[in-house]
Amino acid sequence: MRLGKLRPVGSKVPLPAQKGAVLPWEGEYVHEFTRSGTEALSLAVRLAIADHPGIDSPEVLMPAYGCPDLVAAVVAQGATPVLVDLADGQAPYMDIAGVEAAITDNTVAIIAVGFLGLPERLSDLVSVSRANKLLLIEDSAQCFPPKSVDTGNAEADLVVLSFGRGKPINLMGGGALLVRKDHQERFAPILSCYPVIALAINLSWYLKRFLFNLMLSRLSFALLEKIPFLHLGETRLHLLSDIYRRDIPLGLVTVGIDQYRKRPIWQSVYDRKLSFIDRCGWVRLQSLHDSDESDSTCLRYALLAPSSRDRDAMIDRLDKSGIGANSFYGKPLPEIEGVSEATGNIECYPMAEQFAARLLTLPCHEGVNGQDIEVIVGCFMLELVCPRP
Ligand SMILES: *Cc1c(COP(=O)(O)O)cnc(C)c1O
Repeated sequence: MRLGKLRPVGSKVPLPAQKGAVLPWEGEYVHEFTRSGTEALSLAVRLAIADHPGIDSPEVLMPAYGCPDLVAAVVAQGATPVLVDLADGQAPYMDIAGVEAAITDNTVAIIAVGFLGLPERLSDLVSVSRANKLLLIEDSAQCFPPKSVDTGNAEADLVVLSFGRGKPINLMGGGALLVRKDHQERFAPILSCYPVIALAINLSWYLKRFLFNLMLSRLSFALLEKIPFLHLGETRLHLLSDIYRRDIPLGLVTVGIDQYRKRPIWQSVYDRKLSFIDRCGWVRLQSLHDSDESDSTCLRYALLAPSSRDRDAMIDRLDKSGIGANSFYGKPLPEIEGVSEATGNIECYPMAEQFAARLLTLPCHEGVNGQDIEVIVGCFMLELVCPRP
């Protein structure tokens, strides 16, 4: 029996370097740092609205399964989130025909959300958005580098990054809006209206970092989880009020990127050791998608169980073995607390529903070790009734 519990997600906050290096997006995009990914996304929506003068009630398309912060970012700009169901219950992608069907005269943008390191199908979405004169926003809060930067094709007009806890690059908060250079001149005057606050790397920052990193240990995670008012890992809608630009030192951002790149690639180990679960009706999401993804670290290793009962039983077993596995958002967007009130949306999204009911995520951060993987594989072998490898 091991003491404490392995956290499901979250990397240590790095120490800033004296100087910044060239940022990976500098060829095609200019950046504006913000206090959070949600603020950056909301700025992106603001720009999309500004780009469509004459539309009184702007609408923004987004997937029906995802982070409630997406809804907060859109409603903060007075726009309406329009949800699009997933293509099938097996993948975190929007149905392209569903995207086209949801476009109206009021649509200003499509938000393409990368999920746990699996980017959206940008090449399809870029044709849809071009044909309808919409802005394509890549929400890459969970994927690094963003696909638009990685491919060198700069598919998205705007890209959003998050530096929050539980994201690929954890700087204890912060976000970035990347504006493609062909839009820079048009959008700079709008962005310059938002006040800037500096991020000071001072004694209190170092103290906060020390405590933050301390909280990531197995023992502290197990304790924190038991404190009810912290609502650790709970998903609900938090409305966004003000937006500020934030002057984040480049030395901090570049160290965060470096550290992310040096992290172990646990998903290839999971892929090897858990391949037997395919025969029991489980789906390994990362392995279904282009294998070139496997050379960059994913945020969490994502699986779909045959049913929500199997998923819950497995989470329970992993939990009792000291592994923080979880179901992530747990529900499609309209069922998350506060979302339907904010959007007036009561429709059903059967594919998003299925996906949410079956998803289980395993930790991939630098605190995972070989013994954890053995424990996890052992849990699957005990729980699943299927032919062993
Ligand atoms: C976390 C997240 C955000 C918001 O980022 P914060 O920095 O936490 O505000 C936006 N979109 C997605 C997909 C996210 O996962």
